[in-house]
Amino acid sequence: MSTPAATPPRPVDREALRRRYRQERDKRLRADGPKQYLEPTGRFASLVEDPYTPRTERAPVSRDVTVAFIGGGFSGLCAGAKLKQAGIDDLLIIEGGGDFGGVWYWNRYPGAMCDTAAMVYLPLLEETGTVPSRKYVFAPEIHAHAKRIAEVFDLYPNALFSTKVERLEWDEAASRWLIRTDRGDLIRARFVGMGTGPLHRPKLPGIPGIELFKGHSFHTSRWDYRYTGGTPAGAPMEKLKDKRVGIVGTGATSVQCIPPLARDSRELYVFQRTPSSIDVRNNHEIDASWFEGLEAGWQRKWLVNFAQLQSGGFAPEDLVQDGWTELARRIRDRVVAYAGNQPARPGSDIYVRAYEDSDDEKMEEIRARVDAIVADRETAEHLKPWYRQLCKRPCFHDEYLQAYNIEGTHLVDTDGKGVERIDETGVWVAGRHYPLDCLIFASGFQFGADLGRRCGFETYGRDGRMLGAYWADGMRTLHGMHVHGFPNLFITSIMQGAGLLSNITHNLSESAETMTAVIRHALDIGAREVEASEAAQEAWVGQFDGNVRSMLGDADCTPGYYNNEGAPAGQRERLNGARYPAGAVAFFEFIDRWRRSGDFEGLAFGKIEPAAARAPKRLDVPAK
Ligand code: NDP
Repeated sequence: MSTPAATPPRPVDREALRRRYRQERDKRLRADGPKQYLEPTGRFASLVEDPYTPRTERAPVSRDVTVAFIGGGFSGLCAGAKLKQAGIDDLLIIEGGGDFGGVWYWNRYPGAMCDTAAMVYLPLLEETGTVPSRKYVFAPEIHAHAKRIAEVFDLYPNALFSTKVERLEWDEAASRWLIRTDRGDLIRARFVGMGTGPLHRPKLPGIPGIELFKGHSFHTSRWDYRYTGGTPAGAPMEKLKDKRVGIVGTGATSVQCIPPLARDSRELYVFQRTPSSIDVRNNHEIDASWFEGLEAGWQRKWLVNFAQLQSGGFAPEDLVQDGWTELARRIRDRVVAYAGNQPARPGSDIYVRAYEDSDDEKMEEIRARVDAIVADRETAEHLKPWYRQLCKRPCFHDEYLQAYNIEGTHLVDTDGKGVERIDETGVWVAGRHYPLDCLIFASGFQFGADLGRRCGFETYGRDGRMLGAYWADGMRTLHGMHVHGFPNLFITSIMQGAGLLSNITHNLSESAETMTAVIRHALDIGAREVEASEAAQEAWVGQFDGNVRSMLGDADCTPGYYNNEGAPAGQRERLNGARYPAGAVAFFEFIDRWRRSGDFEGLAFGKIEPAAARAPKRLDVPAK
């Protein structure tokens, strides 16, 4: 379906716009903030079971390994690939799902795709000889790429699937981590990597009566194709043709699955609390002959270029050219115009003015696009986002707004209040009952939750210190990865590191390099332990004091997981959301120098073994 041209935006009345933004935010502020959501435990536990791989019984595993990695998503895959390249084969990847893929194993909802360009989002493209089919690829292709990485680097023999870690405990006497799982396994690992991801555990909306619904229901990350029919590859969900389907939520997930739901359901009711901003997608196929012509090392160049433009920096060209970099381009052009080529750093007055003007202009365009596409005036009004673009995850789609023109698709706007209640037969909004056969929760993930709660297990370091308790007042790390008191542990966290939200996998592949370099060094010098010094960690954490998480200022934003649901951000939230003050590219450059220096400043290597007992020296094992 083609996109009609949007009406040119009117000049912006800044004051009126800000007033409207504040009104819309205030409507949505709730006293229970992030506590409004329910965990999928107890009576909701079935909502997070694995619908894709049947559980088969197996004998418990008891094993010693050099490296155990928790999580088989892109984090574990990048780590596995790098470790193998560095000659560290004695590796075990423990994964709750039935295969590799992480979020792309779980999220198989119809229409699922990645709205970061495949050229930068898919890791290890050159190493695996992969040509993405399109600029933005669909979930099945991403999952296939994850499996390809595992095959190319021979990681399947190193995997323990359908296995959930229940406890991670440091054994001081043996200088090893003890890992216990829900299968009764006991793994003793010299080093442990953790790639449990920020979007790992689904959450449910805390709507009164949610437990009463007697129709069929599921969370988008556990799509029930047995009920809906169809396939993740896009075959029609023929079993919905006589069904009244409701979906709660209009975030990035919903935006992608609503078009196929609108196409296939008898009636579709979309229960909206806050509309997403929907910019153009403009997807297109990748020309294989153009791709063939790229020089070796192209992916690193593209990654740096994208990160540069995303970090408020300047780059002579925009290789990716998408909605993420467009905002950066607009800001850059304005900064140049306002400053007359004088340097203007992110955060300077000129930069902030350029940012505000660009943002207002973009949001006016986005609202004008709604008017240009959606036929029903009232529906169009409700679909307009009234906040600054980066307050919420920006979305890009060329069929979402159009779906509201399909007969049988109904937007039920809740005026910021959310669904009133749920009963046995359906959903109530503003005193009206909507009878439903199926209710789908597109209510997101426990992004801001404590690491322990998110990954479903606790970690006990030296002297039995619990990581969750140690971080009760916020994360304390060196580089987002190492934690004092938790030796030989490597946490893949985007926070307190680059914090590059627009391209999560870039953070992950850098973390894999760092973890591999440190482990390789520890093995080479025979160090049984490596740990962040308290002084280095505190110096690192100290730089986040007063460093606001986003340049928007959280207080002005409509609530969501980007801003702690609008609840005031204290020290804990500030530290949990902290990013390297000088930006992602500066962090990547810093960490590259740190790795290459070989000094690993801030880490202490201890309990050095006699040379005879050491692991073999580095073997450069090329990818197959
Ligand atoms: P989100 O957390 O973004 O959205 C949850 C939705 O549920 C929101 O619209 C929220 O409204 C709504 N909601 C919550 N409670 C209620 C209620 N009581 N009544 C009505 N509505 C309610 O989850 P998503 O799964 O959409 O996205 C999560 C993240 O996953 C994204 O931000 C993105 O990072 C990632 N993602 C990435 C994609 C990609 O292309 N790379 C694609 C899809 C997801 P409100 O906004 O008012 O809180």
